[in-house]
Amino acid sequence: LRHLARKLRASGPVTVAEYMREALTNPGQGYYTRRGGVGESGDFITSPEISQVFGELIGIWYISEWMAMGKPNTFQLVELGPGRGTLTDDILRVFKQLASVLSKCDVSVHLVEVSPKLSEIQAVMLTGEKVQPNPEDSPAYMKGVSKTGIPIFWYRDIQDVPPGYSFYLAHEFFDALPIHKFQRTEKGWREVLVDIDPEVPDQLRFVLSPSRTPATQNFIQPEETRDHVEVCPEAGVIVQRLASRIEKDGGAALVADYGHDGTKTDTFRGFRNHKLHDVLSAPGTADLTADVDFSYLRKMAQGRTATLGPIKQREFLKNMGIDLRLQMLLQNSGDTATREQLLHSYDMLMNPEKMGDCFNFFALLPHHRLVHPDKKDKAESKSPPPPVAGFNELLLK
Ligand code: SAH
Repeated sequence: LRHLARKLRASGPVTVAEYMREALTNPGQGYYTRRGGVGESGDFITSPEISQVFGELIGIWYISEWMAMGKPNTFQLVELGPGRGTLTDDILRVFKQLASVLSKCDVSVHLVEVSPKLSEIQAVMLTGEKVQPNPEDSPAYMKGVSKTGIPIFWYRDIQDVPPGYSFYLAHEFFDALPIHKFQRTEKGWREVLVDIDPEVPDQLRFVLSPSRTPATQNFIQPEETRDHVEVCPEAGVIVQRLASRIEKDGGAALVADYGHDGTKTDTFRGFRNHKLHDVLSAPGTADLTADVDFSYLRKMAQGRTATLGPIKQREFLKNMGIDLRLQMLLQNSGDTATREQLLHSYDMLMNPEKMGDCFNFFALLPHHRLVHPDKKDKAESKSPPPPVAGFNELLLK
């Protein structure tokens, strides 16, 4: 707050995007830079932290896509914003269990993480030990080897990840990226800004820009019907990069987050100790987040790849076979406490009132990966590619 108040007094109000960037990833004081309270003992809980089944099914999704794409002999698993590293850890366990399937494939893991604290936690989770930093001039700032023998590299930016056939993963990543907020007024669109409150010392408040800003001109569509709009240009840039990389080198991206399809208005909120927290109070001590606009991500893929979804988490996991996996784990667990824990975490992930309905899955895939209904019956065409797991109903043969 002191850092921001000084800045606001010196140079006036800042955009919500700039405020969010400072509060979350300022190199000294940002929420994620310092710690990032993911997990039960932190500020917010995420699906991979609730149940190992979540990451296992995502691991299966990648193997299924790898097989559908003709089992290329190498791939990179690239995770954006890996938090505590739990999701990749669960995925790598699946890769190990299916080692006979993946035996001829050269797999490496690439983590994009800005937080030094979280990258240390990820290193311990994934490699079982502390990892030494890489020399300054190498694109990866850290490297190690997973408990299952797979090389792991850490980067600050997706652009530093080497090109190559890659499976991308972004779980609760896009919602942490800075948004711009806009309000329709009688005088036209105005941008919402953050300023110091002149009445109360060291308190922040929202104000509207007195006139249009470059962002109001660039980010509001002429056909917009809502009165309040949030746009995350950084998410747009990252999706463009993912789409171009997939178009050029092959692979797929799986994005999971809470969000909407271009319909919601004010979704900016804070979390601290698992409770809602005023976004403007004590910046740097709480998670700040906004719903992901999947319609914007789809638009930013710019036709370079096909897109699937958003589909609700409960449908995606059902299509991935979560019910079968739960039954198997229940059968194999002897004690009542474990069985209760399994049922409780299933309910958290699947219940529409909990995480089942508000979280969505969205995928970017090369165009050739999808079945074209008009082409599939033609005699000369090869057999159509199998349906994409998770986005289609599970059919057991
Ligand atoms: N995927 C994890 C963590 C989600 S929290 C889970 O679901 O449990 C968001 C993660 O994104 C954190 O690891 C945070 O440090 C990281 N992050 C936030 N902004 C980032 C940015 N601009 N670039 C890279 N990582 C970022």
